[in-house]
Amino acid sequence: MAKKQFQAESKRLLEMMINSIYTQKEIFLRELISNASDAIDKMYYKALTDESIRFEKDDYYIKVETNKDARTLTLIDTGIGMTKDELESHLGTIAKSGSLAFKKETELKDGHDIIGQFGVGFYSAFMVADRVTVISKALGSDEAYKWESDGEDGYTIEPAEKETFGTKIILTIKENTEDESFDEYLEEYRIKAIIKKYSDFIRYPIKMDITER
Ligand code: ADP
Ligand code: MG
Repeated sequence: MAKKQFQAESKRLLEMMINSIYTQKEIFLRELISNASDAIDKMYYKALTDESIRFEKDDYYIKVETNKDARTLTLIDTGIGMTKDELESHLGTIAKSGSLAFKKETELKDGHDIIGQFGVGFYSAFMVADRVTVISKALGSDEAYKWESDGEDGYTIEPAEKETFGTKIILTIKENTEDESFDEYLEEYRIKAIIKKYSDFIRYPIKMDITER
């Protein structure tokens, strides 16, 4: 399967994310949840105007799962999903991103301010993950696709299996280093605290399975 390369601007932003020394890496979750919420908004409005879409209130939610053995943090949304083309254009380039009001050369030099001041978007996942897998099925489509990237070396897109519309994002969390701990992003209590801190206002339920201790 051929690897596609990120656009030049995307590459720069990605490099910045991967090598980020930014201390509040936890904001990646805010970004992913806000994208999930946006996608559910789109589904919601589609369902309002299109009678053929049968979508009940309970069908709108975001689910977050951790798996320590696999080192994954997974977000599932019941949003509008992305087609193959959309995976490519929305995740392969940053030109579309609304967060790119900051895309000036000078501003890109100081990662601290950018991340603090603006939404940095989807690529912020690469601050904590060394691989990001996006499996999505767009509303009205029979096919699902998987987008995958290690951030450094381009990305791949291939057909995938997914029953329902929406998007599943699987972050493979980085291994701890001498200076930095990433294991915390596999801890349910930590994930809950981050959600509470940044995503309390999200109007769809954010579900997490409760593991008995
Ligand atoms: P922004 O949210 O500012 O547009 P992002 O980098 O966060 O920028 O996301 C880029 C684009 O990728 C979004 O605009 C959206 O089109 C698409 N996208 C990201 N996450 C999802 C998702 N969970 N469901 C559907 N589309 C998504
Ligand atoms: Mg966003």
